[in-house]
Amino acid sequence: MIPFNKPPLTGNEQQYVLQAMQSSKISGDGQFTQKCHQWFEKELGCKKALLTTSCTHALEMAAILIDIQEGDEVIMPSYTFVSTANAFVLRGAKIVFVDIRPDTMNIDETLIEQSVTDKTKAIVPVHYAGVSCEMDLIMDIANRHNLFVIEDAAQGMMSTYKGKPLGTIGHLGTFSFHETKNYTSGGEGGLLIINDERFIDRAEIIREKGTNRSLFFRGMVDKYSWVDIGSSYLPNELSAAYLWGQLEKADEINQDRLETWQYYYENLKDLEDKGFIVLPSTPNECVHNAHMFYIKVKDLKERTDILKFLVDNGVLAVFHYVPLHSSEAGLKFGELSNNKYTTKESERLIRLPIWHKITQKECQNVIDVLLKFYVI
Ligand SMILES: *Cc1c(COP(=O)(O)O)cnc(C)c1O
Repeated sequence: MIPFNKPPLTGNEQQYVLQAMQSSKISGDGQFTQKCHQWFEKELGCKKALLTTSCTHALEMAAILIDIQEGDEVIMPSYTFVSTANAFVLRGAKIVFVDIRPDTMNIDETLIEQSVTDKTKAIVPVHYAGVSCEMDLIMDIANRHNLFVIEDAAQGMMSTYKGKPLGTIGHLGTFSFHETKNYTSGGEGGLLIINDERFIDRAEIIREKGTNRSLFFRGMVDKYSWVDIGSSYLPNELSAAYLWGQLEKADEINQDRLETWQYYYENLKDLEDKGFIVLPSTPNECVHNAHMFYIKVKDLKERTDILKFLVDNGVLAVFHYVPLHSSEAGLKFGELSNNKYTTKESERLIRLPIWHKITQKECQNVIDVLLKFYVI
């Protein structure tokens, strides 16, 4: 059976995790966390990078930082992971879902402005499959209406929009290092990217259970105490050490995934040319990171048939995101008024197996099963 995903492992992770274990500091913000922070601040060119226990938690920190209050409205696509919405719902927000574009499955930027009301506080673009949303227009809308932009760049590490790394364009950005993402900190992990420096001091406090502990360690206050709301959002050193092993090989991992992506694309092109499937498309201003390789088929019924055919032929492919607006919690906390594409396009999508070091033979195997399904 060809699995859907294998977590990336490049070789140095074991050694760094062992090193972290043998050091006298295994709680957060030790040597490996510092190394990771510096790497992100340099590579992304952001004001501040803070490792978190997950992207979910980085999003929760963002919701606290922009001071979401009961009744505030937050705009986002319905076609996303639950955490994008949950983080804001936890603070009392109402979620205003906006339809997606069928070409990228990202929020349709041309529909955002008509959803802005005097209660709107933020826009949360989700960079699906590591392909950027149309950020120039989104930032322009946000600036004109005085809104915050939180980029859910969970899937977007190493991707760019007009040359800018994803996560560095909005006021805040978030990455995920879950085992299914391109880079992992040992299964679970995330990052908060701070581009608006007004948020830095408070972010450090929220991440440290609402205390000014980081100022204390830097000698800037003489004792540390409870100063704000917060939670335990900093990861342990073992996670940071694991991630460090991958950051050192960031380009290599990216390159390998891009080659796999290209192989799928070239070898499935014929199925697209014959009108059976639709392949992913990338707008000119976007450079993606091959986070995902998906195809879109005719409809829900055909997708169900193909997923079964793939499993019967030894391939585990998956679909995802039942749109949030149609879920039990989504009906309670949000609303999608215009649904031209969200449901229809999400029901057509299949994610093919992809991971760091998947072999060409394994990809060909997946491709062959698809060709066999369509009998060409
Ligand atoms: C993976 C993912 C998340 C959640 O990441 P965790 O690190 O598992 O909390 C949030 N948003 C999107 C778009 C994701 O793909």
